[in-house]
Amino acid sequence: MRFRSQEREREYRARRRLVRDMLDDQVCERCHAARATEVHEVLSRARGGSILDRSNCRALCHDCHQWVTEHPADAAATGWLAHSWDQS
Ligand SMILES: [Zn+2]
Repeated sequence: MRFRSQEREREYRARRRLVRDMLDDQVCERCHAARATEVHEVLSRARGGSILDRSNCRALCHDCHQWVTEHPADAAATGWLAHSWDQS
């Protein structure tokens, strides 16, 4: 069994709470039609984005999340994706 630090545990708990709140009967922030089922980070964690900062997270339906993933250039141009160098 792997050791998981308390800090990591707190982060997971906060993330679960954020995701639950964001997807609680919410409509997709992109198409405003489908029900949001997934949380997307504008600035990905790999690029230093916070997965706990609500302002960095978007509630999306599966199709919109897939679109963002498959069209990074268009998604960046329309504000659904950010690069670390966009941060001031
Ligand atoms: Zn959508």
